[in-house]
Amino acid sequence: MLYAPPILLPISIALMVAAVPEKSPLPDAVALKKMTARLAPVDLEVDISRLPQPERAALAKMVEAAQIMDPLFLRQSWSGNETLFFTLAQDKSPLGQERLHAFFQNKGPWDRIDLNRPFIPGVPEEKPPSGNFYPAGATKADLEKWMKSLPEARRQQAAGFFTTIRRDAAGKFQIVPYSVEYQGELARAAALLREAAQLADEPTLRDFLTKRADAFLSNDYYASDVAWMKLDASIEPTIGPYEVYEDEWLNAKAGFEAFIAVRDDAETAKLARFSSELQEIENNLPIDPKFRNPKLGALAPIRVVNSLFSSGDGNRGVQTAAYNLPNDEKIVKEMGSKRTMLKNVQELKFQKVLQPIANVALAPADQKNVSFDAFFTHILMHELMHGLGPHEVAAGGKKVTVREKLQDTYSALEEAKADISGLFAMQRLIDKGVLDKSFERTMYTTFLAGSFRSIRFGLTEAHGKGVALQINWLLDKGAYKVAPDGTFSVDAAKVKEGVASLTTEIMTIQATGDKAKAANLIAKMAIARPEVKRMLDKLSDVPVDIEPHFVTAEKLLAEARGGQSGAAR
Ligand code: ZN
Repeated sequence: MLYAPPILLPISIALMVAAVPEKSPLPDAVALKKMTARLAPVDLEVDISRLPQPERAALAKMVEAAQIMDPLFLRQSWSGNETLFFTLAQDKSPLGQERLHAFFQNKGPWDRIDLNRPFIPGVPEEKPPSGNFYPAGATKADLEKWMKSLPEARRQQAAGFFTTIRRDAAGKFQIVPYSVEYQGELARAAALLREAAQLADEPTLRDFLTKRADAFLSNDYYASDVAWMKLDASIEPTIGPYEVYEDEWLNAKAGFEAFIAVRDDAETAKLARFSSELQEIENNLPIDPKFRNPKLGALAPIRVVNSLFSSGDGNRGVQTAAYNLPNDEKIVKEMGSKRTMLKNVQELKFQKVLQPIANVALAPADQKNVSFDAFFTHILMHELMHGLGPHEVAAGGKKVTVREKLQDTYSALEEAKADISGLFAMQRLIDKGVLDKSFERTMYTTFLAGSFRSIRFGLTEAHGKGVALQINWLLDKGAYKVAPDGTFSVDAAKVKEGVASLTTEIMTIQATGDKAKAANLIAKMAIARPEVKRMLDKLSDVPVDIEPHFVTAEKLLAEARGGQSGAAR
């Protein structure tokens, strides 16, 4: 034999030893306390006093069903999670209690806010990227090879949202539907949703609850997703397998989560008011008139709600404040997707994170110009503005989407567009008298403080890049100023022009599909300059996010268990 194969074992061990970085010591009780304090504890409260008694009882059933998503998600995330949880729960020492708290926040023993570092002894160094969706010991390559070998219909099932892959008795890969894999829990959740449906009065709510209960047992989620899109009720439940982030191998498998919420009527009315202004805003965008859209398409539905309870994939690490669902492309094609915004969650983030940031980052005179109303109204406007401006590029007689043209530069520019043109649109509504004049004082400053919150989540993803681009543009235009002490402020005389000019710049790049110009803008501007970096260092003690305690949901459950019909709240 001319070629001697390498002796695999010793070499791989040598490589492993060389590759393992210096292990940082596991955190003790004090360090764990500091770690969990990055998420500020808050009471999540909702006024449900106007809901009639049967609806409240239905809501309690939905919360109970939602609670089941927690153990399901734990099991999906890592096969060792449930055993570890029981071990931790028995350890009543201060260290054990801190570990349990950190475990709850992260839904597992890896720090989701800090690169998934392990914080509990005896767990793998690396959070398993395959979650618990695929067989232990299988490699991604094995799995992909097997999937490719399947006939198309089977391949689609294997790569589908709602199946796990296991090994049969002979050791071969097999496809297991969620309805089988998680049978016990899903049967219990389905029963609770049916009880809720019997109590609920509103037909679209009943329809969703019944169909989602069916889906838990049949594994066919289509009809219930359609019903969820049509939901138009005072209670807005989202419950089931949805997002695919926890499957880092293929982004194919959906994690269980729930958000149980009630509609915010005042904000819903505000949205309707804004929606009727959108065509007029489009007609006045600061771009070449030929790039404006003379007839805007139908709006994607947006719901503003207040959250009572969240669980599973919807309650881990940094809290979800808004989501677009469903992910099923068939439904997205047929009906679009729905944006749900959790207003009370946004408000608590504002109080615990944004306001403290403002107190450090802004010049004293600007600090009083920060308001939740301006913050939330801008978030609504950001969502609406995604629908305005150029979406297609005329290229040799046919139309190509801006996304296709701008490729990897698309997302950061589109996020920056929605932000900056959102300010432009708010200014227009102020000038028209649709929005109160006081917003002119608060919205630019609130947006500036909010920029530091976004940029703290990193410059590697679209939102962070888009925010850095805006800060730098507005600094260059003199719309933002930095004082010698490092604090930032808004120049009221220059900010409107700065906002309009960036709107023009981004939308013109989009309308012309100029990828080179987009890449250049991002490379030069979507960076943290020294004055921004210095400020980020000063913000290191401000909480990263919040940790909600579901006080209204707990009271509601207590009320339901007590069988009271009173107005306890
Ligand atoms: Zn956006």
